[in-house]
Amino acid sequence: MLLELFITLLLIESQVLGDTSSSEEEQNSSQEHDDEHKERPSHSHHWGYHDQRSWMRSFSNCSGTSQSPIDIVTRDVIYSPSLPAIKLEGYDLTGQPELTLQNNGHTLQLQLPKTMKIVNGFDEIYLAAQLHFHWGTIEVPGSEHTIDNVHFPAELHVVHYNSKYTSIREAASKPDGLAVFGAFIRIGLHENENYENILSVIKDVSAEESNTKIPSFNVRHLLPNSLERFYRYTGSLTTPPCFQSVNWTIFNDTVTVSRKQLAALEKTLKAGHNQSLAENFRTPQNLHGRHVLASFRTTYSTRTGASPGTDTSSRTGVNNTQDGLSRGDILAIAFGALFALTLLSFCIYAYRQRQKHSKFNPDSRQNVIYKPATKEDV
Ligand SMILES: [Zn+2]
Repeated sequence: MLLELFITLLLIESQVLGDTSSSEEEQNSSQEHDDEHKERPSHSHHWGYHDQRSWMRSFSNCSGTSQSPIDIVTRDVIYSPSLPAIKLEGYDLTGQPELTLQNNGHTLQLQLPKTMKIVNGFDEIYLAAQLHFHWGTIEVPGSEHTIDNVHFPAELHVVHYNSKYTSIREAASKPDGLAVFGAFIRIGLHENENYENILSVIKDVSAEESNTKIPSFNVRHLLPNSLERFYRYTGSLTTPPCFQSVNWTIFNDTVTVSRKQLAALEKTLKAGHNQSLAENFRTPQNLHGRHVLASFRTTYSTRTGASPGTDTSSRTGVNNTQDGLSRGDILAIAFGALFALTLLSFCIYAYRQRQKHSKFNPDSRQNVIYKPATKEDV
């Protein structure tokens, strides 16, 4: 019985610790649009990042209610274990024809072949079109999406279009037209060799509208190691014309580049008349009631960001944490209970042992025969 009690206690403890480790993972821790970068003729380059409010006047979609980027509030995301895993095909381009790298005046963009596909994760197969970056300056972190109001130094977007459409141009304005991956870029201690495939030639495209060719490489290596933990929401291109056609996937895991590599991105490119191309990120947009899903359990992904009184936890299969109790509180209570139960078990055990002794001692005493030691016993 005592053994069963201890096994139960151990099980409770391991569950509590299990929850803790997942929240730690969370701590260790996105089109565009930019098809439009590719598709739009250069004469439409009149918009800029300094006056983002003016976008709405020329592009009506930019004032829509499903705009991107957004701030991801981790305590409001909905844990959705049923989100299908992302599976890629054809991302390794090693040995294939060279790729075109371009400074289009808004970003640094790499054209991608449609042999690169997302084959699992959505209802349809999505084909790659291009990837590009958003960044800030040495003083200003320049990711577009933010996590709990925190910007990362830069953000990678890989743009795909629904294979049911004949081109990205056709898909870009359709509600199910685009699927974009967003990955946050942080500064690490070491140079990221995979990013060198692009950044080592960035000087060749410092002038607006310039292009260069680079050898093909494994594009998968530009993404975080793990694609399992991601946020999902429906949004828009983050540049004009702001079509609300993007199924966004923002990875929780990040990628790192060296300080020097990030500086190359921040300082090398020019836009227009010798102006520096930097701080090319749109400010986070209002959610307007949209929900952000997560494929993993974040620290607070136990409630929805729905209007007060609405609780979708039952439909999403989420275990609710009571309001006002943090994970730390729960841990403290669990360990307190564990200690109390252990103490109680010990008391019961001690009491029973004492009873046993008081029961047997009188008899055993009778059986004791005092036998003085003799020399033979020594
Ligand atoms: Zn983008």
